Amino acid sequence: MTRVLWSMIKEKLIIPYIDLKTEYYDLGLKERDETDDKVTFDAAEAIKKYGVGVKCATITPNKARVEEYNLKAMYPSPNGTIRAQLDGTVFRTPIMTKCIQPYVRCWKKPITIARHAYGDLYKASEMDIKEAGTAELVFTNAQGEKTAKKVFDFKGPGLLQGQYNTIDSVTKFAYSCFNYALDSKVDLWFSAKDTISKIYDQTFKEIFAEIYEKDFKDKFEAAGIKYFYTLIDDAVARVVKSEGGFIWACKNYDGDVMSDMVATAFGALAMMTSVLVSPDGNYEYEAAHGTVQRHYYKYLKGEETSTNSIATIFAWTGALRKRGQLDDTPELVSWADKMERAVIDTIEAGLMTKDLAMITVIDNPTVLNSEEFIDAIKNTFEGNAPAGKDDSKRVNLLYEEFLDSRSYKEKIEILRKIGGDLDDKMITDFAVSLDVVVEDGPFDQRYMSLVNCLHQMAKFETEGLR
Ligand code: NAP
Ligand code: MG
Repeated sequence: MTRVLWSMIKEKLIIPYIDLKTEYYDLGLKERDETDDKVTFDAAEAIKKYGVGVKCATITPNKARVEEYNLKAMYPSPNGTIRAQLDGTVFRTPIMTKCIQPYVRCWKKPITIARHAYGDLYKASEMDIKEAGTAELVFTNAQGEKTAKKVFDFKGPGLLQGQYNTIDSVTKFAYSCFNYALDSKVDLWFSAKDTISKIYDQTFKEIFAEIYEKDFKDKFEAAGIKYFYTLIDDAVARVVKSEGGFIWACKNYDGDVMSDMVATAFGALAMMTSVLVSPDGNYEYEAAHGTVQRHYYKYLKGEETSTNSIATIFAWTGALRKRGQLDDTPELVSWADKMERAVIDTIEAGLMTKDLAMITVIDNPTVLNSEEFIDAIKNTFEGNAPAGKDDSKRVNLLYEEFLDSRSYKEKIEILRKIGGDLDDKMITDFAVSLDVVVEDGPFDQRYMSLVNCLHQMAKFETEGLR
């Protein structure tokens, strides 16, 4: 389905405005099969040559796809191949809008997850131990000398696993993270479990610290951003209490788990962008979601689809903005900014695809099909106001509703709907209307104090009815 969206995006949103001089590599299964997957390697080489690429979601064939497309082989994931060729790190960032509220109420800015996608659990060797005996780690060097370390004396059946990573890969991971943080001018956090893993994780921590001191400290200070390391469990707690707006670098497994958590908590899979950054500064942009196969089968049957093209559009704007920055063509950079603004304005005016309509805080959104949505964005981009509801009107209505409502539970719900539009003045007005005092202080603290009062009142409301 993303291939269908891809053509529409190119035809309606890109080609009319940009004199595109791209090289095209078809990563569809047919072409990969015909070239024995050489086309994927050629695409990776082209990204290295030009410094920037934009990729549509691709199929990683499983047994069913091998049969469906009559493939010669079960080709590996193109993303895996390109990542290996570029030696890169993947950064995933949610696209935030007022119509979708993160489940974590204090998150106001995006949290980018940088996952070290090499080694550890994903390349581990495992053994199923069937009887009592001793397990050892043995390293044999090029001269045949062995170093051994006991792992465990098994008294009976058990499990064993050996993991590895390389200093080269961890170093490249660190460089990609520091460079990306500088590029996007946000703080960088890195977390691991060095208190328990005194060699493995400790080395990750030290490599990051050394590279920071040597190559980035001054640049970070000049850019007004910070790097800090903390334990993974402390990081989890801090992330949930934060307001976002930083990059969180994670080891392979942590990144796998945390990127799903962060994506879900921000609201929508189709609103995640992804960029692969190589340590020597090549960039590949794409949507974080897959090909949306289920919608494609509907499309093939001639049924209407409402597939969200936002992350794919942002992959294009991300790539073209980067191109503009590298070539010093500010027109291209501002085109990208304007196109992204058009996307956000369109959905904030209530025009969206079905996946967003199901989770938006906007009342009665207009659900558009895949093509109508792209047309609506084009319309906004062309300077015609989106044909949806006026957002300030929406907030005013909710404000009045809050003051009029006689139920505290309802008031809590209205607060949730106001979401990111809530400001200090509204908190003061609402507090006055409830006859409670919300002390001066940081916005989040004042918000929590108002919500706590409402919950207390709602509790009495329920008990009073009993
Ligand atoms: P998926 O394509 O991400 O879709 C999973 C489900 O999420 C969809 O069925 C849909 O839910 C919802 N969804 C995802 N993106 C959406 C969008 N833009 N608009 C609306 N809904 C969206 O994952 P998949 O179905 O597991 O994988 C399909 C194919 O994609 C596989 O061949 C896989 O190998 C490939 N894949 C590629 C990449 C990549 O190239 N980066 C990444 C992941 C997967 P509903 O059906 O409920 O509407
Ligand atoms: Mg995962």
